[in-house]
Amino acid sequence: MLDLKEKVVFVTGGSQGIGASIVKAFYKYGSRVYFCGRSEEKLISLCKELSEIGNGNCGYFIGDVKDYKKIEEMLDKLIKHEGRIDILVNNAGITRDNIILRMKEEEWDEVINTNLKGAFFFTKVALKYMIKQKSGKIINISSVVGSMGNPGQGNYCASKAGIEGFTRAIAREVASRGITVNAVAPGYIVTPMTEKLPEEVKNNLMNMIPLGRLGKPEDIANAVLFLASCMADYITGQVLHVNGGMYM
Ligand code: NAP
Repeated sequence: MLDLKEKVVFVTGGSQGIGASIVKAFYKYGSRVYFCGRSEEKLISLCKELSEIGNGNCGYFIGDVKDYKKIEEMLDKLIKHEGRIDILVNNAGITRDNIILRMKEEEWDEVINTNLKGAFFFTKVALKYMIKQKSGKIINISSVVGSMGNPGQGNYCASKAGIEGFTRAIAREVASRGITVNAVAPGYIVTPMTEKLPEEVKNNLMNMIPLGRLGKPEDIANAVLFLASCMADYITGQVLHVNGGMYM
């Protein structure tokens, strides 16, 4: 029903957390799924996990989303091997939290360059191929705090609000080429990124979530699969919020 079998998918930051869950979900649906990250150890460990799920097709690249030349190299290799790229998921993201008066320029730059510029780089290179194909689906991973704001996350919130504007702009630019661009904005999801939050903060968060639990990476993967599938062919330029009702 989702029509994802044999689709060629690239997930940035796919080695753990939400990215790994997205990789596994596409893999289970029979997609040809590729992913990147900076730590080879984590990439290999996910490949092993995938081989235990079944005999699908997957591959990894060691690469930083801040490195434009490396991205060109990765996607060039992918196209030489697969001949196409059907779905790009811009998922790689980091936090470097600090209140604004203490925030260092490097903390600002590191977050903006990873979360926002990284998505710009990948989208620019992938679109070269998608425009030729006259098809493609791009899904950007935003965050609920891009809409709500969050103290101590000026850099992160700016990157996520930015990615939502970017999503709408590019959706308009490439719609006539048969390409859709959407975003998924997760609420608080249990991953290594949020593991480090103090128990008190997690308990406070729970009180803000009408569905009464933090999200699972699979909750986000399900939304991404939907937007990547033929079921979402007439949806573009949208942000799908997946947050247990925390933001309505
Ligand atoms: P995570 O557990 O920290 O995983 C981040 C992934 O991105 C890792 O695979 C990491 O691998 C990779 N990565 C980080 N920097 C990279 C870079 N410069 N180049 C390439 N890969 C890089 O984070 P997560 O919680 O799964 O978050 C995934 C996405 O969801 C992010 O965009 C995040 O902002 C968003 N999000 C998360 C939550 C949440 O509650 N968890 C909520 C809203 C939005 P390496 O470190 O090996 O490179």
